[in-house]
Amino acid sequence: MPRPTKRSLAGKKNLAAAAVEEMPTQKVCSFCKENIGVATKTCKHCGTKQPAKERLEKQKEKFTAEWKEHQKKNCSINKVYDATNLLLHKWNLLESHPVLFLSKKTKNGIVAEFLCPWDIEAEAEETSEDPDGFLRQRPLSCPVVLVSEDNCMIAIGNMPVTTFNAERFNEGLLYLMAYYYALHLTYPKCISTLLSVLQTEILQDSIHEQDLTPSYKKAIGEWKSFIE
Ligand SMILES: [Zn+2]
Repeated sequence: MPRPTKRSLAGKKNLAAAAVEEMPTQKVCSFCKENIGVATKTCKHCGTKQPAKERLEKQKEKFTAEWKEHQKKNCSINKVYDATNLLLHKWNLLESHPVLFLSKKTKNGIVAEFLCPWDIEAEAEETSEDPDGFLRQRPLSCPVVLVSEDNCMIAIGNMPVTTFNAERFNEGLLYLMAYYYALHLTYPKCISTLLSVLQTEILQDSIHEQDLTPSYKKAIGEWKSFIE
């Protein structure tokens, strides 16, 4: 084949034809592995939607370490949150109710932030209006003070044990600690530091050596610098 010059129309046509020949017209379905047209979005054999990988990868390439630095410098992370929330909103409209965890590695394990487009707080308020419903859903068996407009209730696990006037709410915490002491209950892990601090700093009680966790020591340090 003669090498086409830039000005040769025939040559251009040949080049175009060669390019078309070289470009794949077929690809393999990502699911059933049958041959399908390269532009096919949904496989005609199995109905699987084909991943739009190439375009997506190109879009991803635009976001580099430089982009990351730019976000940090300009504190424009809120824009990313807005874009994320918009995306979650779209999924919610499509009735695929999304929940997104943004996690970070810390010394104490993974800490996750939780994004959710429906109003979970409103739903939580609804359930807390009904103490029975709340108690049934409780995952912990430790004592808890429930506060309503009229009164306070102490429950252990999902069993209500005492009610008292809402004005005496400030005593509720003492009752709570009293149950731990009287029934020799173990502090649940997720609030053990808080309860240990109450034990030593409010009740002025000593603490067992095994409860002197790094988390407790850190909390005490912060507590002391706060009250100084
Ligand atoms: Zn297929």
